[in-house]
Amino acid sequence: MRQTATVYYGEFGGRYVPENLESVLDEVSQAFAQFKDDPGFQQELSYYFKHYVGRPSPLYFAANLTKKLGGAKIYLKREDLNHTGAHKINNTIGQVLLAKRLGKKRVIAETGAGQHGVATATACALFDIECHIYMGEEDCRRQALNVFRMKLLGAEVIPVKRGTRTLKDAVDAALEDLIANYKDTFYMLGSAVGPDPYPEMVKFFQAIIGKEAKEQILAAEGRLPDYLVACVGGGSNAIGLFADFYHDTQVKMIGVEPAGKGLDTPDHAATLTLGKPGILHGFKSYVLQDDNGEPLPVYSIAAGLDYPGVGPEHSFYKDSGRAEYVTITDAEALNAFVELSRTEGIIPALESSHAVAYGIKLAQELSPSEIIIINLSGRGDKDVAEVLTLLDKE
Ligand SMILES: *Cc1c(COP(=O)(O)O)cnc(C)c1O
Repeated sequence: MRQTATVYYGEFGGRYVPENLESVLDEVSQAFAQFKDDPGFQQELSYYFKHYVGRPSPLYFAANLTKKLGGAKIYLKREDLNHTGAHKINNTIGQVLLAKRLGKKRVIAETGAGQHGVATATACALFDIECHIYMGEEDCRRQALNVFRMKLLGAEVIPVKRGTRTLKDAVDAALEDLIANYKDTFYMLGSAVGPDPYPEMVKFFQAIIGKEAKEQILAAEGRLPDYLVACVGGGSNAIGLFADFYHDTQVKMIGVEPAGKGLDTPDHAATLTLGKPGILHGFKSYVLQDDNGEPLPVYSIAAGLDYPGVGPEHSFYKDSGRAEYVTITDAEALNAFVELSRTEGIIPALESSHAVAYGIKLAQELSPSEIIIINLSGRGDKDVAEVLTLLDKE
C-alpha cells in the first residue's frame, strides 16, 4: 500500500520501473519519509557527519585567487576535506543508516569510475554491513586502484562482463541482484538520479553542504552570496549546495557541465546543454540520446562527470530558469586544476576543476563587492597521475 506520493519536479523525476521494483522503492520511500525528520536518526547522522566525515567543512576565502583575478570575492566550500576526499561520503553514510533502520543485511551499488564504490564500501565497513559493488569489467581494468581500495575495505567487487562492460551494464546487473534479493538488500545510489525516492533522498543527505555554507557566509560577510557554482555530473554536489538557497531568489545558481573536447564533438557529457527530455534508468530528465532515444556515449576528462543523464531536479531548474547551466572544456578544467594548485595550494578534483574554471571566468566579470561560492566537491590527489600524463603531452 502506497503511503507516499511519487515525487516529480515539474514534468521530471517520477518512477519508470518494472512492476517488481515498485514495492522495493515503496519500502525505501516509506523508510525515508519516516526517518528523515526522526530526532534519533538526525542525531546519529549528525554524529557521524561530525566525528567521522569531519563536518562542518570549512568555507574558505580564496584571498590569493580573488586578488589575482581582481573581481568578485571567491569562497570555496571545502568538501575536498571530508574523509575519503569528496562529498560522496555524506550520501553513503546517510543511506547506510537508513539501510540499518530497515534491517537490511547487505548493500549493493554500482560504480563507474569507482568513487561511489569506495564511498559505499567505506560506509559499509564502518557499520559492518555486507557490501557488493557491481563494476563493468572494462572500468575495473581502468580503475584498478579503486577496485583494490574497495576490496581493502572489505567489499566484494563483481566485474560485469556483458555489453560494453561499463557503467550501464553494471546498473543492469545491480538491478537484477536487487529484484532477486530485495528482502535483505539495500540499493545505494551515488547521485541525485534514479527513480523516486532516490533524487529526493540524495539531496536530503547532501543538503548539509548548502546549510553549512549559508551559515558560514552569513558569519563571514553578513549577507548571502550572489552566485553559487558547482559541477554537475549526476548533480548531487550541486543540488546539495543549491537546496538551502532555493527560496533566496537573489542568489544565482550555476551548474557546470563537462564540454569535454568541445560541444561540436561527440566527446562531452553536457546533458542539460545539448540533451533532450527522455527516460533513462527509471526517471525522466534531460538525456543525451540519439534519434531512437538510446543514450549516447559520453566523455569527460573527469570520470565522475561522464553520465548521459542528470538529476531530474536540475532539469526542472533549467526549464524554470531558477538555475543556469554552462559548460567548461577539458582544457579549461585542466588550467583551473593547475591555477588553484599554484595560487591557493589546493589541488582540486578534475570534476571540481570545472566549477573552479567557471568561477574564475565569472569572478573577472563581476565587481569586488560581489561574492561567489564555488563547491570544491573533491580533492585532486586521485587525478595527479593522469594530469601528469596530459601535461607531459602538451
Ligand atoms: C562523483 C563526483 C562528482 C560528480 O557527481 P555529482 O553527483 O554531480 O556531484 C563531482 N565531484 C567529485 C569530486 C566526485 O567524486
